[in-house]
Amino acid sequence: MKICRFDNDRLGVVIGDKVHDVTAAQDQIRAAAPYAMKGDAVIAALPDWRGRLEEMAAKAPGVPLSQVKLLAPVARWTKTMAAPTNYQKHIAEMEANRAGAPSKMGSDIGKAGLFLKANSSVVGASEGIPIRFPDRRNDHEAELVVIIGKTGSDIPQSRALDHVAGYALGLDMTVRGPEDRSFRKSVDGYSPLGPWICTADEIPDPDNVPFTLHVNDEKRQDSNTANMVYSVRRLIEFASSFYTLHPGDLLYTGTPEGVGPVKPGDVVRVNSVPALGELRIEVRAHEMKN
Ligand code: MN
Repeated sequence: MKICRFDNDRLGVVIGDKVHDVTAAQDQIRAAAPYAMKGDAVIAALPDWRGRLEEMAAKAPGVPLSQVKLLAPVARWTKTMAAPTNYQKHIAEMEANRAGAPSKMGSDIGKAGLFLKANSSVVGASEGIPIRFPDRRNDHEAELVVIIGKTGSDIPQSRALDHVAGYALGLDMTVRGPEDRSFRKSVDGYSPLGPWICTADEIPDPDNVPFTLHVNDEKRQDSNTANMVYSVRRLIEFASSFYTLHPGDLLYTGTPEGVGPVKPGDVVRVNSVPALGELRIEVRAHEMKN
């Protein structure tokens, strides 16, 4: 099942190229959820509600995807985690950029650890990527994103996939520069996510998912999660050895080689298997608010 959020915080089930409105279910689930719960109530409720969502979707008229504004498919989650240096050829590319000098953080993910991005950097496909520092290099990083489905800590690899609600495509955008990594990667709009979540049953092996990234018509990235240094299971085990994971939590799994700059006016497309669809997002100028 493919689940999206669209327009003014509506919940949809995507069937073919149409969105079927199931917001009534979202209203009911949220109303029953304690305010202080950690994580996203709709994601937490998916196992119980799936059948009802499918029934509701079958009865709701479909609206073409092209006519809705896609938002980030999760509304409320506790943290956005990301894996650095999780593809060997990307590690080599970063070292080449530094003229062979090793990263101060190291390229061994087990030693460097994961990092966190601000939740406020996450946007859906319709929202665009606003570039705040057009004079600096702003890079795309195409990544598979894991959406956690249930609360857990110290999760072993053998049970890791039981904690996955689904997957989406994501971009871990980066302003290059000397500041702390989390600071540079947490600019508003620098964590696009979408176009929807496909539930875990549609991705039988998350460690064999092909994906590409195009900027306009130029292919920049072309890889497969089979090339990850830490598999999805190992990333979940690693993340949950530091943090309790909650429903809706996002885990960006790292980017392969081919990262490069974007500028306002560019269109970035991440494509993968049909279940994950295409994340298409426009790069635009930042509008000063004050
Ligand atoms: Mn990344």
